[in-house]
Amino acid sequence: MLRNSTVSIARRYFCDVKSLKPKVCVVGAGPAGFYAAQHLAKKLKEIQVDILEKLPVPFGLVRFGVAPDHPEVKNVIHTFTKTAESPNVNFYGNITLGQDVSLRQLRELYHVVLLTYGAEQNQKLNIPGDSHEMCFAARKVVGWYNGVPSDANLCLDLNCESVALIGQGNVAIDVARILLTPIDELKKTDITQYALDQLSTSKVKRVYLIGRRGPLQAAFTIKELREMLKLPNCSTIWREEQFQDVTPDVINKLGRPKKRITELMLKSVRESPRENPKGFYPIFMRTPLEIFENKILLGVNKLAGDDLLTQKAVLTDNKETIESELVITSIGYKGVPADPDLPFIEDKGVVKNDAGRVDKGLYTSGWLASGPMGVILTTMSNAFGVAEQIIKDITNEGPQEPKPGFSELKRVLQSKNVQIVEWSDWEKIDKYEVEQGEKLGKPREKVLDVRKMLEIASG
Ligand code: FAD
Ligand code: NAP
Repeated sequence: MLRNSTVSIARRYFCDVKSLKPKVCVVGAGPAGFYAAQHLAKKLKEIQVDILEKLPVPFGLVRFGVAPDHPEVKNVIHTFTKTAESPNVNFYGNITLGQDVSLRQLRELYHVVLLTYGAEQNQKLNIPGDSHEMCFAARKVVGWYNGVPSDANLCLDLNCESVALIGQGNVAIDVARILLTPIDELKKTDITQYALDQLSTSKVKRVYLIGRRGPLQAAFTIKELREMLKLPNCSTIWREEQFQDVTPDVINKLGRPKKRITELMLKSVRESPRENPKGFYPIFMRTPLEIFENKILLGVNKLAGDDLLTQKAVLTDNKETIESELVITSIGYKGVPADPDLPFIEDKGVVKNDAGRVDKGLYTSGWLASGPMGVILTTMSNAFGVAEQIIKDITNEGPQEPKPGFSELKRVLQSKNVQIVEWSDWEKIDKYEVEQGEKLGKPREKVLDVRKMLEIASG
């Protein structure tokens, strides 16, 4: 929390030097961008925050990542909307850093640039067969059911009985749940209509969730597991022998959240599976070695290391083959350098930063800064922290010279014929989507084509 004295010094400074009102450019309108803007605008009234976004629509992974059957998570959109409507915050969509404007230009036009453009790519398995036409990244599958314009045409063939998901995080669980949920449940959500049509003729009966480590190291969380266990028409089928080391002694050593989820898994392991047409099969201690047309070759692992939760998977000589016509890899998202001037750690996919600071006047937050980990709340605390740092720095150092901010950026963008989507334009797209959804009995039907979004925005 910013101390009151710091706030009042900041206020006095900026009142004295009105023309030097700090201008902050936030790049990326996901949770990190909106939460940082909220904090800046709340703490410093004399500030201008402009949020630039690549797409004509805001909210990042809240719109394009969060599963359609989790509408309650999307309530944060109301908070983001209030922020966008504050007098000292503006949203400008359809502007891509690295394409329409460079980092150097933004740093010339604004006192502070805060990069919050997330993690747009995914980690790759890099094993033989991973570019096979029936092997997809979960990121693309999520984009397909959530209406990411570039993923709308994904050729996901669900005319198969078994799917292997690689990775045991919550993204993998989201995808498994969407594949196994009865279609009538999905019909009530904002899932894209074409995904709904394809899911309604899906032949998928078995979804394997393959992790390289054991039950104690699984990345999924209890709420998400509970949802899988409760799925109608679907049984969860564990391999009981994979729990032989999960003894009461081991469980007692675990922290509370791990203990609870492990107990839930064990309870489910002990119950005899219900007879159901569909099955969810978590499989531990397996590393994918090669992907073939209808199967996947897995290496059997053992665990090494003393600390239970950070034990590493070590391959043994044993192998196993699983029949699976479709393979979906869910082993993490990955950030990319949007501009060549960015100090970037390629293997981690993050901007090099020290608690959000990149360089004088340049900051980063959210998944671009931390890597693709954590929920919206984690991203929120990170964004508040970095916004706090920005306030301290501009309070201590102050803007040295006036900067033009958006007035000049607008000129640059217009010279490149970039159509700028303002908040009121997004409201038109929003209204259109809600109206289209109403016709189908859904909360919204997303527009999938950027050109169509721009047409509605300008209409
Ligand atoms: P993002 O949300 O990715 O926002 C980045 C924004 O930057 C995007 O709008 C993007 O279009 C924009 N952008 C990208 N490149 C550029 C560029 N060059 N120029 C301008 N703009 C650009 N958390 C939960 O709490 N609950 C959940 O149910 C949940 N479900 C999730 C499901 C999935 C599939 C995923 C991947 C994550 C989920 N999360 C969930 C985590 C949550 O989405 C993240 O914590 C959060 O979105 C990270 O926020 P961010 O702002 O860093 O990135
Ligand atoms: P994640 O939680 O980090 O899980 C990644 C999974 O991939 C882990 O099981 C990991 O195993 C595995 N993995 C990584 N590299 C691998 C490799 N080379 N080979 C085999 N397996 C590999 O990532 P995520 O699922 O993408 O989720 C990202 C964040 O978003 C998480 O914090 C998540 O909680 C959040 N999220 C939340 C929700 C929700 O709240 N409902 C929904 C979706 C996402 P190891 O553990 O062995 O590395």
